[in-house]
Amino acid sequence: MNDAQVWAGASGSADTSALPPLHNAWLGMLTSIQNPASEPKSTCGDCVMCAGVDRSGSSVTFSPDVKCCSYVPHLANFVAGRSLLGPGHASISARIARKAGVTPLALGLSYADIQRVVSERSQFGRSPVVVCPHFDQETKGCGIWQTRNAVCSTWFCKHERGAVSLRFWQAVRDLLMAAEERVGQHCLTHGGLPDEQADAVLAHRAGIQAAIARANAGEAVPDIEVGGESAHWYETMWGEWAGREEDWFRATADVAASIKPAEFIALMADVPHLCQAVADCGHDLNTHDVPDRLRFHPGDGSAATPEVLRLVGYSPFDPLVLPASLFADLRRLDGRPITEVREGNDVSQTRLDDNLLELLHDFEVAVPREQQVPARLGGQVPGLTISLEPESAQEQKQREQERSDQV
Ligand code: SF4
Ligand code: SF4
Repeated sequence: MNDAQVWAGASGSADTSALPPLHNAWLGMLTSIQNPASEPKSTCGDCVMCAGVDRSGSSVTFSPDVKCCSYVPHLANFVAGRSLLGPGHASISARIARKAGVTPLALGLSYADIQRVVSERSQFGRSPVVVCPHFDQETKGCGIWQTRNAVCSTWFCKHERGAVSLRFWQAVRDLLMAAEERVGQHCLTHGGLPDEQADAVLAHRAGIQAAIARANAGEAVPDIEVGGESAHWYETMWGEWAGREEDWFRATADVAASIKPAEFIALMADVPHLCQAVADCGHDLNTHDVPDRLRFHPGDGSAATPEVLRLVGYSPFDPLVLPASLFADLRRLDGRPITEVREGNDVSQTRLDDNLLELLHDFEVAVPREQQVPARLGGQVPGLTISLEPESAQEQKQREQERSDQV
């Protein structure tokens, strides 16, 4: 692949990859993983999480007006520049025109944005308080699909192998986020911005990251920080590019496109552990190691009907749905060796066969006897945390009422 192809993301079979072209090319350069397949149960064009419990298996139902796009993506400068060339360019222009969270490094959050999200209770997938500015309300889809960022392209509500797949995608996400950050900083310093301005921009980014961390820990964003992002501050930060922000972002896309593969690899030289994590999680995806002892431990929100069990394990969005008739067998998994649990049964007839045990283990519905029950909420969306708690019946009713009022 030549340099132009890398940055255009053109590769023979990239169309089959879950990732946008550029991220796909990066992953191939940094690891031995090529064109990772998407998660087929995350049916984004016909969102499974909006379809109700019978189809999704989850007691959490998303609003089609938000889906999983309850998130304001951080777009590195060159990603914004590339997006300006695509079908969703109007949403990028509108975000730039807003000036909030717009710096030569990225389109991100402002202190005021953080303050607003924290003060209004937002619920992931259900509340219109936070909706991505690139979410197209007509198509109910992503306006910048081909240039969406690392977080968006590695997030799925459902996974073929449950927690094993989730860990793989999180490792890919962390690696690609590191790439976005490094290439964005490279564009900042090679785009012709004076050093003092570049330093101020990086200091602002560090301040925003600290504010997000504090907000996630329950601290309010002080007004003084919001006030610091004044019109004067904005003009100073942008310098001679003020008023020509779109030109800047397009220019950074050109700077990024001029980075040679060897240069890119050098930019990533300080994060070999992130490459290794992807390789390790990729290896796990291709292996099936079921512990010798398992304890059946469905989490909060699990439910049973006369026909099915909906067992919440690693994620409330992706319960394991099994025939209700298996319940008695599952309860026999009490931490004893599997051979003992199966004793007296012909293994070919018992329903606790290897495939079922793998599923239970992958989805963390059954855990190794000695293992603490893993955290089951959160941790899926980096950045500003939004409540993932299932809404109450009253909240659900209120949301439905609001929706019918709008109609
Ligand atoms: S990943 Fe998002 S859009 Fe796709 S099916 Fe899941 S909730 Fe819906
Ligand atoms: S960029 Fe696209 S995928 Fe990401 S949150 Fe926005 S609309 Fe959703």
